[in-house]
Amino acid sequence: MMTDTAPGPALGEPRLSLPLCILLTAVLALTGCGEPRPYKETRFMMGTLVEVSVYAPEKAAVQAVSRAFDRMAQLERVAHAGHEDSPLARLRRGEAVVLEGDLARILEAGMAVARASSGAFDPAMGELVDLWGLSMDRPRRPSDGEIGEALARKAGLALPSGACCPGGAPVWMDLGGVAKGYAVDMAVELLVDAGVASGVVNAGGDLRTFGRRPGRGIWKIGIQDPDSPQELAGVLQVGQLSVATSGDYQRYFEEDGVRYHHILDPATGYPARSGLRSVTVLAPDCVTADALATAVFVLGAEKGMKLLEGWPGAEGVLIKEDGTVLLTGGIGDGIRFERAGKGIRDQG
Ligand code: ADP
Ligand code: MG
Repeated sequence: MMTDTAPGPALGEPRLSLPLCILLTAVLALTGCGEPRPYKETRFMMGTLVEVSVYAPEKAAVQAVSRAFDRMAQLERVAHAGHEDSPLARLRRGEAVVLEGDLARILEAGMAVARASSGAFDPAMGELVDLWGLSMDRPRRPSDGEIGEALARKAGLALPSGACCPGGAPVWMDLGGVAKGYAVDMAVELLVDAGVASGVVNAGGDLRTFGRRPGRGIWKIGIQDPDSPQELAGVLQVGQLSVATSGDYQRYFEEDGVRYHHILDPATGYPARSGLRSVTVLAPDCVTADALATAVFVLGAEKGMKLLEGWPGAEGVLIKEDGTVLLTGGIGDGIRFERAGKGIRDQG
């Protein structure tokens, strides 16, 4: 989502979805004469650029935004196994961890989507995600044998549920497909509690708007063209809503002409090849939008559309490999989508 002006990837290196917030910045800057301008701050965290943009008096804005970033930094330490003392790292070492608070809520949101998608979204993918190295910026193509072994171990793994898990066997939980959305929700909650009237929190394309945008009322959100991510496939116009995109162009490497991206099919252990290139999900909260986008990407167009149509409050914009754009039924009234870009054809 949004424009991506990062330079092309060197072969063998992951392409990171970097400044996904740039379009939003540009769009917000498009306010007419006399319209208030947002206070904005951008930081690199959770593996991406996070932009918080709010409409509030400067002093209050500076304070609230700083606290929103602190909250997201705290969540990064909870939900990412890269932090040695994080609960996820301890679970991987087979230590006992009490699943409570933020961690329990992130897992719960992920498990709801895991159940509804028959496991297309799977928070137990940690060992496979590590094997492919895509989250840690050292990508490599594992051997079929390594993938088979990790898949077999995953099949025997019961994710901890309830308040506590006993420790013992290593648990390879990975919340990369849902944690950013939760962090966005928590940042918005904090900003609203601090009295900020409106704004956007955008974590590399997983974003949530709140309040009415001064002047125009609606928020404009660009969806990247998977073929040339610096261009747009279309623009959404929304009110107060969350939007998250999963695509095969966000984080990938190429080897022998094959693209290996960062969304894995839990059934095979390989990057999902479902015929979709990009899935944008709109939902009232960002944690749900984030997990659903990953799930729909794995499920493919037919099953993915069914999942979205059956999920209360969720809508989607799906871009297939042939450039076809699919829209769920609720797009058109309230939420507008305008196509852009040459490569994008009419809905099939
Ligand atoms: P992004 O991180 O670019 O926002 P996603 O939200 O689609 O993209 O999440 C992809 C991340 O989720 C991967 O980097 C990995 O950590 C994790 N992941 C990969 N495949 C799955 C899956 N099938 N189910 C749940 N999580 C996944
Ligand atoms: Mg996701």
